[in-house]
Amino acid sequence: PPLDSDALQTLLERLSNDASRCFNEGKVADYIPALAQVDPDQFGIAVCHVDGRVQYAGDAHTRFSIQSISKVHALVLAMQRLESDEIWSRVGREPSGQAFNSIMQLEVENGIPRNPFINAGALLITDLLVSRIVSIQNTLREQLRRLSGSPDIGFDEKVARSEMDHKARNASLAYLMQAYGNVHSDVDDLLDTYFHSCSVSMNCVELARSFAFLANRGVNPLDGKEVVSPLETRQLNALLLTCGLYDAAGDFAWRVGLPGKSGVGGGIIAILPGQMSICVWSPRLDGYGNSIAGRHALEGLVAGMGLSPLG
Ligand code: GLU
Repeated sequence: PPLDSDALQTLLERLSNDASRCFNEGKVADYIPALAQVDPDQFGIAVCHVDGRVQYAGDAHTRFSIQSISKVHALVLAMQRLESDEIWSRVGREPSGQAFNSIMQLEVENGIPRNPFINAGALLITDLLVSRIVSIQNTLREQLRRLSGSPDIGFDEKVARSEMDHKARNASLAYLMQAYGNVHSDVDDLLDTYFHSCSVSMNCVELARSFAFLANRGVNPLDGKEVVSPLETRQLNALLLTCGLYDAAGDFAWRVGLPGKSGVGGGIIAILPGQMSICVWSPRLDGYGNSIAGRHALEGLVAGMGLSPLG
């Protein structure tokens, strides 16, 4: 049986207190100045139960750059608007085993990215969205506001601009896919939209809420509305389990055993299907770009709750 709220609260607070043990390892993302300035020694954790109740500890109300976590919301927008074939004929569903921003597989695989959760795949999803939605940035922002119940969620223009100033690698991914005929929109427009999605600022409570539908067969507990179907929910969770943590997805599944998605801002979201969505945040990253204290806390949470979808 799940822990009662008091026991879970005690566990969250213990995990939050223990997080400082990880503060001597790793470093914050420094590929853009706007992220390099974040205070590294912060930690927050929040869970959103399938009935919408939220519990949290630590810096759970401090907003941070959600970065790659936005790749999940972008895919959700695509699944809501496009036929399944339109998506999966242009992007794969296999773990990449390569770094999040790797380019090498794109040439070997004719411009088809391995999955939507690496940079190449998210750029491709953005390309699909650009062709369908007039203002994706507004649509994404509205979706995040609705799912999290926070009407003031928005973009960090400083982060978005900084990403554009250091766009070379993502631009090269987009241009290579364009050369293979798999990207159709103007590359700078595409990058601007992708970087804005990465630049969204949210906190652990808001992120946990915004993913509760993935623990709840596709229904957002906040307003009872279906975000995706139960089948699509299962498919998204499968993709998160296999591809959500870059080339450390296997190790994360081994240690934590939950579908998850990390971002280089130090956030990780994870789903315990049927029970809760979880968001942890701590900016110090390991060599794969995943939050060190965040992953430790998720291991501790799963161990402490004694609940796993994998047995
Ligand atoms: N903005 C980052 C990039 O495109 C996102 C990477 C991430 O969070 O993994 O390089």
